[in-house]
Amino acid sequence: MNLWDVKGVPHKGWECEGVIDVGDGTSSSDEIEYEQCEMCGNEKIRYVHIMKHANYFRELRVGCVCAERMSGDYENPRKAENALKNKLLRKKNFLKKPWKYNPLKGSYSKKYKGTYITLVKGRYDSWGIYCDKYRLWQVRGQKIKDFKAAEALAFELYELCYRRQETMAA
Ligand SMILES: [Zn+2]
Repeated sequence: MNLWDVKGVPHKGWECEGVIDVGDGTSSSDEIEYEQCEMCGNEKIRYVHIMKHANYFRELRVGCVCAERMSGDYENPRKAENALKNKLLRKKNFLKKPWKYNPLKGSYSKKYKGTYITLVKGRYDSWGIYCDKYRLWQVRGQKIKDFKAAEALAFELYELCYRRQETMAA
């Protein structure tokens, strides 16, 4: 199905609500569940642009090329996608650095680009993240349930605290 052909579906005036990577969290490209562009139907997309329009009843998940046409913006969709790709490379790099296990505390630590990050196992099997002076024990009221989740959040916390300006400039 190609929505570009359907009369009544707006072609212009869409706004981008954000870009997501459907491959985030996978370790190889075989694992990625690519999506189909909902607008043109024929792209194997990994970076999904979420598009919204006042005269359309729901959001559409589309690829970069359609996002550009729909918004009439031939600069920012590509920029947003590149920013996301760069972030994923930084995440990969962050995760590559091994943790040091401390058997006395039962915690895992590493120094990453000058910042100390520690993952601690708390009571009730939940995890906490220490990033320099910052502490994170829950996300939207939910406990951090496993090491993998804690590790991914440690990266987010590190980015929020230390890369904010660079990220915003990118
Ligand atoms: Zn498309």
